[in-house]
Amino acid sequence: MTDKIELIGLSKEEIGQELAKIGEKPFRAKQLWHWIYWQGETDFSKMTSFSKDLREKLAASYTITRPKIVAEQISKDKTHKWLLEFEDGQRVETVYIPEEDRGAVCISTQVGCAVGCRFCHTGSQKITRNLTAGEIVGQFLVARDVYKEWPTPSDETRYLSNIVVMGMGEPLHNAENAAKAMKILTDGDGISLSKRRVTLSTSGIAPKIAPFFRETKVQMAVSLHAPNNEIRSQIMPINNKYPLEEVMKACQEYQQMEGSRFITFEYLMLKDINDSLDCARQLIDLMHKYKLDAKFNLIAFNPWPGCGFEASSGNRIHAFAKELNNAGFAAPIRTPRGQDILAACGQLKSKKDKE
Ligand code: SF4
Repeated sequence: MTDKIELIGLSKEEIGQELAKIGEKPFRAKQLWHWIYWQGETDFSKMTSFSKDLREKLAASYTITRPKIVAEQISKDKTHKWLLEFEDGQRVETVYIPEEDRGAVCISTQVGCAVGCRFCHTGSQKITRNLTAGEIVGQFLVARDVYKEWPTPSDETRYLSNIVVMGMGEPLHNAENAAKAMKILTDGDGISLSKRRVTLSTSGIAPKIAPFFRETKVQMAVSLHAPNNEIRSQIMPINNKYPLEEVMKACQEYQQMEGSRFITFEYLMLKDINDSLDCARQLIDLMHKYKLDAKFNLIAFNPWPGCGFEASSGNRIHAFAKELNNAGFAAPIRTPRGQDILAACGQLKSKKDKE
């Protein structure tokens, strides 16, 4: 442990306040921000637009740290997974999911998760702690280091083009730090990701939805996974606390916000649980009832030992998708990526913890 102050995760204003403490003018905050988040620099001595004196002062009081990569795996389909460790030894997973000429980095917001979805590997690991804003941002910085995307490339030329906050944890159980991290990641003077390219997924913490997305303006996805309360409570106990009606009303509120787009509903296809045509019809009715402009991601389940669920057949998934399509809803089928490297969230961490 060091008694120096970590700069990653501070807002631009907070960096300004730190600089004021060491007798520097506020405009230096923007320059320092540029070094940290546009250039990706971690070494104060290389910040050549600063005098030698200032570089030494910064190095004496502050640090710019990355989480440590303790394990990594690259699958045949190029999905790249890191197990990252923070200063206190806690670990999370971060995954890069490449498409042809771009790709999304999937980041975590908590160590473990308190939501306990029955189908989720992370849900079987108890919540340990929230990540700080710096630890959330740090995961993307590691991915940028690995893929050498410094200085920040133009939007069209970057491989790490999107962020999905869908890793370990429920982001809205750590809403303050997650919101701060989203603002850093989308700040135009630094990492500069468009708010349209950042999607945060929630299991449906209804009262936090509207305030969070109003503040951050990133895109929303909801882990829905069921068309009614009965099935949803069975596979997602959080539904007992925030039933479907409350989640749907929060979605309505989100949709009324300026600049909001359609809502993406994640729907994991579980054999004989939620994959019948009747379920598809109930979903359509639900969307109509709440007048939601929605898109569904139908996700083929990647079973893990002891999970107690099976994957729906391809035929079943296609029939489900067709039913939604016929009602005018986009419903792309997402095949699991990186199956050969334990890519479902939480699995690499579990394996390493056991070791
Ligand atoms: S699916 Fe998400 S919210 Fe549910 S237990 Fe897993 S990490 Fe938590």
